[in-house]
Amino acid sequence: MAAVKALREPCCRCGHNIDPNLDARHPMSFTLDHVIPLSKGGSLLDPANARSMHRRCNSSKGNRTAPQRPLKTSRDW
Ligand SMILES: [Zn+2]
Repeated sequence: MAAVKALREPCCRCGHNIDPNLDARHPMSFTLDHVIPLSKGGSLLDPANARSMHRRCNSSKGNRTAPQRPLKTSRDW
């Protein structure tokens, strides 16, 4: 994580710079986004698999990719 952080790359989602000195709980703080999820064999620390992202942007991405429940498709039998 330190290696990626040292690159000082802008957020890969919104393109704005990330202040590495912000508290980790700050919505604009530095987080890592993994191209290949760790659950699918992605490397935790491989710079090729990790991109810089704001915490806020990372979480909003997660919300967007979350499967949406279909609107009431069940019928009343
Ligand atoms: Zn961002």
